[in-house]
Formats: sequence, structure tokens, C-alpha cells
Amino acid sequence: MTDVAVVGSINHDLTIMTERHPLPGETVLGLEHFSGGGGKGANQAVAAARLGGSVSMVGRVGDDDHGASLRSSLTREGIDTSHVVVDPVSPTGLALITVDSAAENTIVVSPGANSRVDVAQIETSRHLLASARVVLCQLEIPIEAVAAAAGLADGIFCLNPAPGRELPQELLDRVDVLIPNLTELARITGLAVSDARSALSSARQIEGPGAVVVTLGSEGALVVDGDRGYHIAAPQISAVDTTGAGDAFCGALAVALAGGQPLIEAVQWAMVAGALATTSIGAQTSMPTTEQVEVFITTNGLPALT
Ligand code: ADP
Repeated sequence: MTDVAVVGSINHDLTIMTERHPLPGETVLGLEHFSGGGGKGANQAVAAARLGGSVSMVGRVGDDDHGASLRSSLTREGIDTSHVVVDPVSPTGLALITVDSAAENTIVVSPGANSRVDVAQIETSRHLLASARVVLCQLEIPIEAVAAAAGLADGIFCLNPAPGRELPQELLDRVDVLIPNLTELARITGLAVSDARSALSSARQIEGPGAVVVTLGSEGALVVDGDRGYHIAAPQISAVDTTGAGDAFCGALAVALAGGQPLIEAVQWAMVAGALATTSIGAQTSMPTTEQVEVFITTNGLPALT
């Protein structure tokens, strides 16, 4: 049985390290560069697979070298790619990423084939989506496809609403666990969010999802579950590149929920995965394994409820 079906984007990432980000119109000489698999969907699928989940990916790549190599690298991670369609028209999605010396990133994505994941494709994965313990989506594919996946999911439906945008109420009503970061929370609610306190009051105003989990980077995470709200402190770690932290968190949370862990424990475990993903460069390459997460928890304990 599939633990986690990830419905989302598959991109080729080009990452350049730089002292600082260029201003508009400016060119800066960067440092080293890397290229490899990315896309929030594929990143979260890789995170879930490394953390022991049986994972299927639903998505779309172009009929090109990037698409072929991304499919085979997902397969090498143990992910079922039989629901990844090869699009005859559009190229594989491409992301241009810069990471500065403070480990902050900027990203521009050209979605390519990802923008052609449609309702018809989602319906061909009907059986998978109905039988998966957790269906996990993001917003790098058309929202109609996300809504169709939500409608077909019989297990727990998790939505990482990234990149941030307003969400239709019918979609919010189908979400079991909504996982925004601060920016995405502000986009969903239309409210200014600057810190944990304002995030908590904003998250409480979202109607529909069973629970809202807000990730706060080095400030940890918030959980709003019915009337209850919790803040959990981030694991102490020295971050090198924050690309992929949120994806590691979402993939890990999906695996933990698929394994039947209660929400708070699942979030604490996922926070360790998110933190470990910041300790090396890249997105998929930096996704931690179950063993790394367990070693960290044995040494440092679970992140604390504050
Ligand atoms: P996103 O990449 O979507 O913005 P976050 O940066 O909020 O997501 O990261 C997701 C989770 O990863 C956080 O809730 C936190 O637990 C962990 N994390 C991210 N950055 C750090 C950091 N600098 N130190 C410790 N933990 C971190």
C-alpha cells in the first residue's frame, strides 16, 4: 500500500552560490554552482522516501534529457514514477536559484510541463489517490489539478500552499492539514504576519482545514488544531542552505502521519528533518534519512513545546 502519494511539480534546479543577491538590473559574480533534481513535489517525494515511506509521484515532465534523468533519479530513490507522464509539447520545468552567504535563497521557476498537469491526468491516478494513506500537494501545478486530487483522496489530504496565493474555500474545506510558511500564511489570509504571535492569530482565522501547521524557519513551527495552539522551538542547528527545508518538513510530516503518529509528534519529528536539510547545499541532495533524524533526536531530544 502506498503511504504517501505526492501530486506536484518536478523541476531541474540550477543553483548558484553568491556572496549577495543581485539588485534588479545588476550582475554579480557568484561562487560555485550545482544542478540537479528539484520542484516542491519531487523534493517532498524524495524526503518522504528517504524517511522510509512507500511513495508514489504524480506529475509531468517534458520529453527531454532533464525529464528522463529526473524520472530515473526519482526511481533510484525508490519512488514509484508510473504516474509521471511525459508531455509531448512542453519542456521539463526549470528553476533558477541563488543562495547568498546568509543561506537565504531567491528562486525563479519556469513550470513547463508542470503547468500541463490537468484534471484528466489526476483522474487516471484515481485508484492511487483513493488508496494512499496520505495525499500531499503543493501549488506548483494548476490549482484545478490540486482540487481534483483533494476530491479523490480518501486518506489524509495535506496541502503545502506554496507558492503562496489565495485559496478557494471549497479546497480549504477538503484539507486535513494545511502547511504554510509565514509568507504563504500572509497570502492565504490577506493579513500581515511578522512573527509567531501574529502567525498564530492569523492561522486561527483560516476556516476549513482540520489543522494548520505554520513553519517559521529558525523560529520553529506553530500548530493550530481546533481550539488549541502550540509553538514548537526549532532544533538548534547551523544552517548552510535553507533550500528544501520546507520540502523536507512536508515530506517528513506526511510519512509520520501515514505511520499513524499524532499530529504534534509528527510535527516535532518533521522539524528535525527540516533542520537537517539546511545543513547541506541543494534540495533533494540534502534530504535526510530516517537514521540521521533518529541520531539527531537521540542526541538532542525532540524539539520542545514552548
Ligand atoms: P520554507 O522552506 O517552506 O520556508 P521553513 O524555512 O519554515 O520552510 O522550514 C521548515 C522547517 O524546517 C521549520 O519549521 C524548522 O523546523 C526547520 N528549519 C528551517 N530552517 C531552520 C533553521 N535555520 N534552524 C533550525 N530549523 C530550521
